Amino acid sequence: MRAAMAGALVGDEQQDEDPTVHALRDRVANLLGKKSALFLPSGTMANVAAMMVHCRPGDEILAEASSHLFHFETGGAAGLAGAQTTPLVGEGGIFSAETLAAKLRPPRWNAPRPRLIWIEQTTNMGGGRVWPIDTLDRMRDLAQEHGLSVHMDGARLMNASVAHKVAPAAYGEIADSLWIDFTKGLGAPFGAVLAGSEAFIAGARRAKHMLGGAMRQGGIMAAACLYALDHNVGRLAEDHRRARDLACGLAGISGIEIPNPVETNIVIINTAGTGRSAAELVARLETHGLRVGLFGPDKLRAVTHLGISDKDVEFALQAFIAAAA
Ligand SMILES: *Cc1c(COP(=O)(O)O)cnc(C)c1O
Repeated sequence: MRAAMAGALVGDEQQDEDPTVHALRDRVANLLGKKSALFLPSGTMANVAAMMVHCRPGDEILAEASSHLFHFETGGAAGLAGAQTTPLVGEGGIFSAETLAAKLRPPRWNAPRPRLIWIEQTTNMGGGRVWPIDTLDRMRDLAQEHGLSVHMDGARLMNASVAHKVAPAAYGEIADSLWIDFTKGLGAPFGAVLAGSEAFIAGARRAKHMLGGAMRQGGIMAAACLYALDHNVGRLAEDHRRARDLACGLAGISGIEIPNPVETNIVIINTAGTGRSAAELVARLETHGLRVGLFGPDKLRAVTHLGISDKDVEFALQAFIAAAA
């Protein structure tokens, strides 16, 4: 990847003259079945740029309550897009068409204008769950019926695609705008590509510039992302297998519970039965050489990725056995 970056052809990205960025954009637009695409430094900027195009101040975004949008984006929906966000309660980060329909008020002069259905594929805090195509189809139908758009936060869209054997373009058929992140399981140091119609992407380019996201020799970054598409997609299945191995081993440790089915590369770990708080376990795990994300008073989150081998999974299990004892 470093060699690909070093050898990248470059131009002025801000002036739309970087050939490697063009190659990446074309490739992702094609992958996601969209007319146009935009290269951005991060997924967070892809989300906020999309909101800025879809929403006028006061418009409503409907998203699952555990979405990244609500917890890890510094309130960008309110702060930068001026949008009202409404949390929907689902299961594993996935809400049903019924839950959504119940929140769609009849249009009225004094009601906020519902504008955007927000789908996180896969669900991050929800535990890496995959929105099935039939659920997504129902979201698409509701959007059509009520004049809304669908946005897909695809930070782990490629994990969903690999796990459910669904072509990424199938998600592009459902979502008006969607993006993939290159810095999660795909293992690049930066980059996200947002895709949509030509008009949408023209608006998103303005938003990106307003946010200070335009670059110069962006091809150095895009080359890393192209490398990730070439080398790091098929192997996501290995991450999913290792996450299941980890979950299976953890479930065998007394007091530890895995509350959700492990569909992709995220494992939520319920520690309530160990008699120790999750924070205490984190500290004990660290003394055994393992750092794990604290996720609540009795929850941890583990993620497998291209830096984690079978030996690492075995090491993690041994650390858990020692720490939980
Ligand atoms: C990581 C993540 C983002 C933000 O992506 P960055 O590239 O880190 O800015 C957005 N949504 C979800 C679900 C994520 O996991």
